[in-house]
Amino acid sequence: MIEVQDLVKKYGSVAAVKSISFTAQPGQVTGFLGPNGAGKTTTMRMLTGFLPPTSGKAQVAGFDVFNQSMQVREKVGYLPENVPLYRDMTALGYLMYVGEIRGIKGRRDKGMEVLERVQLAHRADSRIRTLSKGMRQRVGLASALVHDPDVLILDEPTIGLDPIQVLELRDLVRELGKRHTVLFSTHILSEAEQVCDKVVIINQGEIVAQGAPTELRNMLERGGRVLLRLNIPAETALPALQALPQVASAVPGLDGIIITPPNPNTDPRPAIARTVVEQGWDLVELRPLAVNLEEIFLELTRHQHAETAPDETPEASSPAESEVVES
Ligand code: ATP
Repeated sequence: MIEVQDLVKKYGSVAAVKSISFTAQPGQVTGFLGPNGAGKTTTMRMLTGFLPPTSGKAQVAGFDVFNQSMQVREKVGYLPENVPLYRDMTALGYLMYVGEIRGIKGRRDKGMEVLERVQLAHRADSRIRTLSKGMRQRVGLASALVHDPDVLILDEPTIGLDPIQVLELRDLVRELGKRHTVLFSTHILSEAEQVCDKVVIINQGEIVAQGAPTELRNMLERGGRVLLRLNIPAETALPALQALPQVASAVPGLDGIIITPPNPNTDPRPAIARTVVEQGWDLVELRPLAVNLEEIFLELTRHQHAETAPDETPEASSPAESEVVES
């Protein structure tokens, strides 16, 4: 289990992580989702016991990251963003070497066992430099499993893999989630939705939402908001839409105009459809908003940014957004 409370990390005057709190449960994959620079790696390094927090509390497998960092390191398997591997060693040789550093007995058997868990036993005697990137990533994952950790912390493990390798690694992470507490960071929203039981969304060092992927989706769907896409500039359409009694607000978003009704029980779509026809606009799309995590993320981070930078336009206000489009 991972329990984080009011955790802060400052690099000099830069607050990379600003008082975050969340938990990750055993037998689950918890997704840590956010754009580049959100604070994911910083948080993960604090939870592995390698980077001292500035303040706050974090317990990993029952040990305190401040005062018991050695015990934390024994309980955690960490796969950093760039896995440091000795390319001239064989896969098994490398895992036996990691086992030796960890003081593990029966290193050959253990090495083979973890290679089997990551479905790489058939390449045990291959030199690491001859393995594909996806296979090397699995060797890294195997090395994080050598000491039977309760908790696995995986920093963007699918980056740089080809689509088939990505699918294989996601399957593997889901499988590992059944036996371990897994914290899995990603900036790919569909990945979090597919792999994780729970998602913690972080942006600019702050948690903007957390919950099961379906809970997060329901949270935003409850408002009855809809997305309208037209093939004319949003600004042209806004006045007519805003004048409708069934519309409380109509604001431009990345994909179209986001329309919020005055209350969740009002469906604004019939009135919008009539207006589109009356005005002679070409309709591209009209649908309930937030059908996937990507839209939830964009909405949450847009809202957060709007609060901190009220003078910026919605389009210009979310540098994070352009980076969170891969899926
Ligand atoms: P990415 O996906 O790009 O790795 P991230 O979510 O993991 O992003 P972090 O690497 O934790 O984000 O960085 C969070 C913030 O802290 C960024 O603004 C980054 O520039 C800053 N930062 C990270 N490491 C340091 C450091 N050693 N010294 C100063 N600032 C740092």
